[in-house]
Amino acid sequence: MDTDILIVGAGIFGVSTAYHLAQRHHHHDDPSSIGITILDRGPAPSPLAASTDINKIVRADYSKPLYMDLAYEAMDAWANLPFFKDADVYHRTGWVMMDEKGSDLAERIRRNFRDSAREDVTFDLTEEEVRGSWGGVLGQMDCNGWGSYYANPSAGWVDAASAVEIMVNEAIKLGVRYEVGEASRIVLGKEGVGVEGVETGDGKVYRAKKVLLATGAWTSRLMSSLEDELDMPDEERIETQITAAGVCVAHFQLSPEEAEVYGRLPVLVCGAKGEILPPTRTGIFKFTNATSFTNTITTETGHQISAPPDRDQSIIPQKLRDESLQLIRKRIPQVLDGGKRPVDHFRLCWDSISRDQNQLITRHPDARLANLFLAAGGSFHSWKFLPTIGKYVANVLEGVSNGAEKDQAWRWKPVQPSAERGVHEKVIPKRDLNELE
Ligand SMILES: Cc1cc2nc3c(=O)[nH]c(=O)nc-3n(C[C@H](O)[C@H](O)[C@H](O)COP(=O)(O)OP(=O)(O)OC[C@H]3O[C@@H](n4cnc5c(N)ncnc54)[C@H](O)[C@@H]3O)c2cc1C
Repeated sequence: MDTDILIVGAGIFGVSTAYHLAQRHHHHDDPSSIGITILDRGPAPSPLAASTDINKIVRADYSKPLYMDLAYEAMDAWANLPFFKDADVYHRTGWVMMDEKGSDLAERIRRNFRDSAREDVTFDLTEEEVRGSWGGVLGQMDCNGWGSYYANPSAGWVDAASAVEIMVNEAIKLGVRYEVGEASRIVLGKEGVGVEGVETGDGKVYRAKKVLLATGAWTSRLMSSLEDELDMPDEERIETQITAAGVCVAHFQLSPEEAEVYGRLPVLVCGAKGEILPPTRTGIFKFTNATSFTNTITTETGHQISAPPDRDQSIIPQKLRDESLQLIRKRIPQVLDGGKRPVDHFRLCWDSISRDQNQLITRHPDARLANLFLAAGGSFHSWKFLPTIGKYVANVLEGVSNGAEKDQAWRWKPVQPSAERGVHEKVIPKRDLNELE
């Protein structure tokens, strides 16, 4: 056996799990004997990962107490873990949420703050205040369609790729091995019980007692040959649990003078339409068009799955570029300089998304795959849990319950959808990339 636990994927789920497992089982005398390996197709921070980004939002504004509590736990870790503190990756700029007319999301979130024992630090803003604050940067915003605005000074953002890299390095210091290679298939055990490991394109097999797939948007594609080998019907396949969904992100490289102006902004959440993050240290200003899409493909055996396309993530269909520009024009038109200034970089970024927006953190339910585990999903909201989520995944790997509520939320779900509302329901994809090409 090469290793005890093989983690495929070095996004937030894989990295956080490796770190927490290593914390638990660190061997002071011989760190490398810990028996934990991460395998990713790229060196950390892995270029295609959803987790590798210039910045991500960290906030506790959730309509479900479970995620609000988890977010507070993560925010505490963001503020206090020495390796994040030393690198100064966490920026508490606050956020402003603009909620669409007719939406009850802001009210459900704020009720949750009020009902929790914590101090409710959120406060209302008027349209005039939104336009007039932060040096008037939002003065030209098109406010049609917005029903309410509120601010929460406790939210902020993190230098995302740097934070992932820092945590990988901490895990490596504790004895975790990091290997670069792309798993092309999952290898079934010789007696047909359990999985032996994964094989990479060059024929190398990474064997382990337990295999964790933390492969994000690529999970369904990696699972599909194994599902074929086991002749699984559609309703038992991973695609019923998580599916790949993409969104389009636009970056502008600001001048130092512009960075100072836009740097006054908090994080801005534009309802279901997207987000605007304050510029990074290097002056990159990011707009996300959050109207997501799947990329449906038919596998060789005729199953329909969604998977990120095999092409450069900066290749964007014109319709999607135009749609993203239209959104930017409605929010902060001056950044486009009357149409003269192009977007410096576009990216299609892919996440795995669960129907109910709860993550999938579980052992595979098929008895033939008893040593295969999954940690993925959510719906464009899991990044903030980088410092802490691995603790819960490690429990699942070690057969320890995370408590009834989390076990229920993160289990392999029944195919019949539940009536309960999700925490990020507006980002569920309702269109396909093929329609935008
Ligand atoms: C544009 C965008 C904005 C977002 N904003 C936020 C935000 O502000 N706040 C927030 O909390 N969340 C946010 N999210 C969600 C968050 O980024 C994701 O939920 C999270 O990063 C997913 O992590 P992951 O580990 O599941 O997947 P990933 O980060 O995608 O990692 C999966 C890894 O698996 C590797 N891999 C896949 N297949 C293989 C294979 N066969 N062999 C080897 N390696 C493989 C990939 O290379 C990759 O490194 C956002 C998502 C997107 C797309």
